[in-house]
Amino acid sequence: MSTVYGPVPSWRFGRSLGIDVIMGPKMCTFNCIYCQLGKTVVKIPDPGEVKNYVSVEAVEKHLKRYVNEVDLSSIDVITFSGSGEPTLNPNLGKTVDRVKRLIGEETPIVLLTNSSLFYKDKVRENVSKFDVVVAKFDAGDEKAYRTINRPIGEMSNLENIKESIKKLKREMSGKLMIQTMFLHTTFGFTNCDGDTLKNLINTLIDIEPDVIQIDTPYRPGGEKFVKPASVDELKTIARKFEEYFEKEGRRSDLWVFGVHDMRGRKVSWTKHASIPDEIMGLLKRRPCRAVDMADSLGISYKETLENLRELLGRGLIVEKTSNGEKYYQSFIRCV
Ligand code: SF4
Repeated sequence: MSTVYGPVPSWRFGRSLGIDVIMGPKMCTFNCIYCQLGKTVVKIPDPGEVKNYVSVEAVEKHLKRYVNEVDLSSIDVITFSGSGEPTLNPNLGKTVDRVKRLIGEETPIVLLTNSSLFYKDKVRENVSKFDVVVAKFDAGDEKAYRTINRPIGEMSNLENIKESIKKLKREMSGKLMIQTMFLHTTFGFTNCDGDTLKNLINTLIDIEPDVIQIDTPYRPGGEKFVKPASVDELKTIARKFEEYFEKEGRRSDLWVFGVHDMRGRKVSWTKHASIPDEIMGLLKRRPCRAVDMADSLGISYKETLENLRELLGRGLIVEKTSNGEKYYQSFIRCV
């Protein structure tokens, strides 16, 4: 399976070519209740403990193949994420350098990370090489953090994570974005209102990132007790952020799911090695709608459905409905 996949349709960044520096089975320092990769199988709190990680050479080899197949001017960003927490790969910094050498400086390189390892100097050094760092931050207090992110073992507490994000911000020259997942649960917990929301806003005022992404787990894959917030709720939360930030004289741009939407852009391919394999590469990392896959692979909706029907028939993928929309997901996920 290739370490390079997609491009995936992203509401935040548009056409995003993915690089997976972990590969399966899912390896992470968290076990978030909304994780679309399912439960964390390999629970590792430190990059020093990772034995088998994706090599720089493997990423380079796979990316070279993509460069021959996809018109890079139709890609908006290159994103490091995939089957777990990318900062667990100790070669992350070298890999970004190699990718930049291969594709040039035109396409921004984005890192999606859970921020838990930023307290390590080496990890911050690796992370600082990215043009954009999207750091996950879902909670403003320890109780909400433990409920939503379920950190593994003796992982950092929330205060340490906040302080190390601030440290990274001082050290990096790229953009710092915070992604927050707003959600409800069937057992009454939510980070969408009350003191839980107030604490979160105050924490983000303190960090003052360039952008705050107000997101919700709208794709299938998380715990059954997790329910997404509605777009109206997200707009209300965005207004609260604006009020508080204005009062404090701070400024961060807000990107709101359902309002800011960069999906729906077609990618130009010069050739396809194997459309079913490309679909599987995508669905192994995230559930997708047929329309998004058609745009990403630059093929017709009809051809996408034909391929999906074949993969369904072979028992390799499943269909799931989430938020009233039909998603496809690899049966063999990174779990
Ligand atoms: S959502 Fe990200 S940080 Fe959370 S468990 Fe999944 S891979 Fe790890």
